[in-house]
Amino acid sequence: MTTASVDVDSARRAYAALVDRGLSLDITRGKPAPRQLDLSAELLSLPRGEYRAEDGSDTRNYGGLKGLPELRRIFADALQVPVEQLLAAGNSSLELMHDAVVQAMLSTLPGGQRRWADEPRVAMLCPVPGYDRHFNLAARFGIELIPVAMTETGPDLAEVERLAAADAGIKGIWCVPKYSNPTGVTFSDEAVRRLAAMPTAAPDFRIFWDNAYAVHHLTEAEPELADLLALCAEAGNPDRAFVFGSTSKITLAGAGVGFFGSSEANIAWWLGLIGKRTIGPDKVNHLRHALFLEDTEGLRAHMRKHAEILAPKFAAVDRILTEELGGSGLASWTKPAGGYFVSLTVPEGTAKEIVRLAKEAGVALTPAGATHPHGDDPADSTIRIAPSFPEPAEVEEAVRALAVCLRLAVAERG
Ligand code: PMP
Repeated sequence: MTTASVDVDSARRAYAALVDRGLSLDITRGKPAPRQLDLSAELLSLPRGEYRAEDGSDTRNYGGLKGLPELRRIFADALQVPVEQLLAAGNSSLELMHDAVVQAMLSTLPGGQRRWADEPRVAMLCPVPGYDRHFNLAARFGIELIPVAMTETGPDLAEVERLAAADAGIKGIWCVPKYSNPTGVTFSDEAVRRLAAMPTAAPDFRIFWDNAYAVHHLTEAEPELADLLALCAEAGNPDRAFVFGSTSKITLAGAGVGFFGSSEANIAWWLGLIGKRTIGPDKVNHLRHALFLEDTEGLRAHMRKHAEILAPKFAAVDRILTEELGGSGLASWTKPAGGYFVSLTVPEGTAKEIVRLAKEAGVALTPAGATHPHGDDPADSTIRIAPSFPEPAEVEEAVRALAVCLRLAVAERG
């Protein structure tokens, strides 16, 4: 990106005027807006008196470690996992990713030679910009984080293949394959096929396939993601994929259902371990979700209601950025067709300063660097915009303020 010059005096005046307005806006995290949560209001009055699942079992009682089959059936398509290999669990997929890492640390994975805790070194590939909670989760267990670049079709596969083939310490890769956080990229068929088929030095290499935005379209175009689990099996690497998903941004972010899917061998490994941790998940919540969403078509219809609320907010981000910065050479940004984020690329060395200026002016942004391992974006040039929570008018105001801060940061830098 070329860096155009900005007049310092006018940038300072604009910023002073912005501070005087005493704004209080927050576009930090990808939270559903209250209007989106209201779409699932009926959920909380379900089930109405009938607690039995379709197999006759009483959902209020213990048991059912794999989760309710009728709910797993609704999500099998979306998450591209056969029902028998898809588990419905508690309210969070992040907690399932956490469990997966902990279990791999403490119990040898199918195909592995020893527990990750007994390895001299455990590293994971981290496509950047990526999701901060993935990186923080792995770092907490002493896992080395190796950044690899995200491209418009997925991670830089040549680099991923080179590293995974050469280094037995590399045990996995974090992927958000659809409407990625924060770039909005959906992995190409080619990228998915290469991930499934690439040789890895570690026999227990795992792709942490966090399909958090599987059905979260913002437009009519609904890109198909290649089926990782099937491609892994075809390539002779059946146990390579750990698939995660949840209804956090479908129903209620704090009271949804998380899913874990994988090969038969991995699921047997998982159930053997998880059965020591719980007698069974919250099946009343599973039943409530199955009754509310009904089927795959019900799920799609429900997601269209989310899109109606979210799309104007994403359109506002693009419109204001175009008005304020289009053609300036100061920034480029993504125009996602789904998911929860826009990724803004600013001149090198200015992202932290922009976020600081915005904070002083009452606009909270995700900390610069959060999209990179250990919060360190070496180019200091990525800012994540999360427009889902505020109303469109507030999104407009926050993004306009961001442009003022960007111009000042660039001007001050000279
Ligand atoms: N994965 C990604 C990529 C996310 O963006 C988020 C939420 N921001 C999560 C997982 C969290 O999922 P859950 O609510 O199911 O724990």
